[in-house]
Amino acid sequence: MCLFRPIEKIVYENAFLFLTALVRDLHQEQAVVLEKTVAQCARNNDSKSEAARMFRELIRNCLDCAGKQLNVVVSGPRTTSWYPSYYRGEQRVDRMVVFIELCLLTRQMDICRAFLDRIWNVSGELVNKFDTIYTPLVPELCKLLQKTNTDICAPPFIDFFRLVISYYLCHLLGTKEQLVQLIRKIGCGCGDCQELDRFIAGKESQHTFRLVQKRRSHLENQMNQARDLVTHETMRSGSPHSLVATKTPAAVTASAWDCRIQVINGMFSAIGAKNVEKIMGNRFVDVCKAVKGEVAFRLDRPVVQRQQQNVPGPSSTSTTSTANRTSNTPSVIGGKRKHDFEA
Ligand SMILES: [Zn+2]
Repeated sequence: MCLFRPIEKIVYENAFLFLTALVRDLHQEQAVVLEKTVAQCARNNDSKSEAARMFRELIRNCLDCAGKQLNVVVSGPRTTSWYPSYYRGEQRVDRMVVFIELCLLTRQMDICRAFLDRIWNVSGELVNKFDTIYTPLVPELCKLLQKTNTDICAPPFIDFFRLVISYYLCHLLGTKEQLVQLIRKIGCGCGDCQELDRFIAGKESQHTFRLVQKRRSHLENQMNQARDLVTHETMRSGSPHSLVATKTPAAVTASAWDCRIQVINGMFSAIGAKNVEKIMGNRFVDVCKAVKGEVAFRLDRPVVQRQQQNVPGPSSTSTTSTANRTSNTPSVIGGKRKHDFEA
């Protein structure tokens, strides 16, 4: 019965690939495996259902281990080179999709739900979570659900999408008024200040000026009068030194409305307009207002976020955003519903 030995001990670098391939093969060959297992269980009264139970347990065990191999972390904009390649964007999202695909294939929906929950609760700034996980994941996940004829509006997916849409609209989209009120010219009109103003109005969150001290000081003075928009730091290496300007979270939110609208429209077209309407239910009216820039979206009361303490990413900070506060609420992804999918 070597198949059923505990498999937690696998420590290969490529355990994820191994385990997911194993699940796929086991699922495909389940008739054969089951037959052999039934034979092994022959002394049991109900050997067939006992074998099926063991088989399912094995699949579950493999998926569980594969899931643990998936390092769900948020990489901020400044962490890059030393990351092992399998943490990087595309491949990370690909693996998440592979994992969810296997959950669907083997009907292990509680593992799927727990995994979505883990993705949602990963530590990090909300803006980075969207940049590195949710925004690239949503279209790929939708493709998978369509390919497998899975209803996007079925749990646990509906809950995940609802969270993603709600939090994006509430915390990242903002309104056009915020943009007009907050973003303003802070320079004096000179060449360096024009560059500064372009940065403030643009979508980048950080900009480096490499200038001699006099010109740096001038920019510092201008920035000091707009502390609600931008902070600065001097990097005393290289010649001349660099003045690094960083937008405040409020300024990041306020700038680049168009860019943010594109992101949410991209998600909506992946999910499908009809589905968005169904997912958001009676809040769909508010979604439309938010997307037009008229009224900022407010979160539902039940939409709360929980954070896992045991998954600290090397770059995660989880400090400023209110969306990242910890609360003790239990699982939010599909927590309200029982196993509808399997029903
Ligand atoms: Zn100036």
